[in-house]
Amino acid sequence: MKLIFATHNQNKFTEIKSQLPANIEILSLQDVAFSQEIPEPYLTLEENAATKANTIFNFFKEACFSDDTGLFVPALNGAPGVHSARYSGPEATPNSNMVKLLKALENTKDRKAYFQTTIALKTVSEIKYFTGKVHGSIALSKKGIGGFGYDPIFIPENYSESFAELPLEIKQKIGHRGKAISALIAYLKDLSF
Ligand code: IMP
Repeated sequence: MKLIFATHNQNKFTEIKSQLPANIEILSLQDVAFSQEIPEPYLTLEENAATKANTIFNFFKEACFSDDTGLFVPALNGAPGVHSARYSGPEATPNSNMVKLLKALENTKDRKAYFQTTIALKTVSEIKYFTGKVHGSIALSKKGIGGFGYDPIFIPENYSESFAELPLEIKQKIGHRGKAISALIAYLKDLSF
């Protein structure tokens, strides 16, 4: 089974690819030479994921999936949430986003947070959604050099290390994207296209 994964993010691609069984082959947007950015203008992860999957499906007429992820901090009314990528502005970088988030929580005791991923799978007959969540807290400062995005400041529940310090296999097992992709794989097992 062949699927396009509608992402330009190589880190996400590597994370998901390593979890897939041998009979599911995924192609990145780089593999299919699609270089345009797909906007994520909506206020829900589901709508953003669906837009990316629909855009690529309409272009290539091939089954595809996309993911949208946000880091939600209840003490900040859910921010950065669906705006996680551009939290610190249009020129945001992972570092500027983390700096802004650490500053926003400077005087806050409640540092609870969770990552949520929603995957949208678009085939010729349907669009389906799969979700994964991981609860944890925001560290007092950045820790570790692995992972990407907000990983250096996210400490998953029952661990003392950040996602950037933990091995990728642990992040995949307990993490938001890993859980969403496991649900997608379970669904794909019964599907043929
Ligand atoms: P998107 O899903 O690519 O739109 O990601 C939104 C924002 O969340 C970006 O700033 C990503 O770097 C960040 N992000 C997405 N997935 C992860 C993750 O697994 N760990 C840390 N940050 C992430």
